[in-house]
Amino acid sequence: MIASFIEKPADLPLPPIPDTTVNLYRPKNPFPAKVLRKHRITESASPNHCWHVVLSLEGSKMVGKYRIGQSVGVVPEGRFNDAEFNYVHTALTDKIRLYSIASACWGDDWKGETISLCVKREITEDQSTGELVLGAASNFICDARPGDEMLITGPVGKSFLLPDDPLNYNYVFAATGTGIAPYLGMIIELFNQGFEREVWLVFGVPYSTDIMYDGEFRYFANRHPNFHYVTAISREQYNPRGGKMYVQDRLEEHQNALIPLLEKQDTLFYMCGLKGMEYGIYPWLYRIGSNLVNLPDGMTVEDIQQLPRDASEWTKIERSRDRRRFFKETY
Ligand code: NAP
Repeated sequence: MIASFIEKPADLPLPPIPDTTVNLYRPKNPFPAKVLRKHRITESASPNHCWHVVLSLEGSKMVGKYRIGQSVGVVPEGRFNDAEFNYVHTALTDKIRLYSIASACWGDDWKGETISLCVKREITEDQSTGELVLGAASNFICDARPGDEMLITGPVGKSFLLPDDPLNYNYVFAATGTGIAPYLGMIIELFNQGFEREVWLVFGVPYSTDIMYDGEFRYFANRHPNFHYVTAISREQYNPRGGKMYVQDRLEEHQNALIPLLEKQDTLFYMCGLKGMEYGIYPWLYRIGSNLVNLPDGMTVEDIQQLPRDASEWTKIERSRDRRRFFKETY
């Protein structure tokens, strides 16, 4: 479904990108945002139930004030937040959950009066008893119907933004799963401002039924040869070593183009999604000799490739990231 929210109608002016503002609404004074519409963004055959949910900000201080790369909090209410219903894992109830904003700062209406979220239903089992556990906020959001109200907080976040002069950079965006959320808004913002540099989006999902916003990304890729859109389908495709095809394998496959791009000081690297994707991406960056990361003292590339995930050295490796050019939002 390609909608008018991805390309500005010619008769509307393009509003400016706002300055960064945080915490207009805090947990003590959340804003009741009305659900305008929602649509499923994984195919019906997918075991992953992901939804794109559009909220109205009308009447709020957030209109025209949020930036892509920021998050908003959602206060779960109703049956999923009911400790009796969700009795197995009450720790999942009552807490505000943060979701990355998926819409460009102009919202769907090009006035910033809407905000969109990309949410996957959290459906798991209690590991000791095998009983069903439903994430309070994600199921609350995915269940919401147009007209319902949802309490939101924020916006929050200053560290995963596009620069203030976004057209002067190249970008490499790496995403896993719903970590794709901020990149939808980023791509919309870049191309609606006339972006002419290079941008790569490398997106990993379990199944081909899970490629969220594929139509939207293809729309831009078909019109802009400087937008390189690549997917990695972990449970259907294999890397050259016969393992699962992950984002880092696609980065490696395209490294002849990516190495010279990443060597440029005006190329920015963003990583968003599953906690753990760094265990594959950092070693690749070290292997190609990227200056986005520095080898910690006493360590070789080979050491890093063999490190177990729980090794304390990962903290040093994380510290070696060039925070001016390498942005990370994994959890
Ligand atoms: P998902 O559907 O499970 O997809 C994740 C993909 O990454 C799968 O293909 C998975 O492969 C692959 N993967 C697993 N381990 C990897 C590794 N070490 N390196 C590279 N790829 C790996 O994802 P999800 O459940 O949506 O989770 C996305 C995460 O993003 C969540 O933790 C969420 O909290 C976070 N996030 C969400 C938002 C949001 O706004 N909703 C924003 C930012 C971040 P296999 O499973 O086949 O191994």
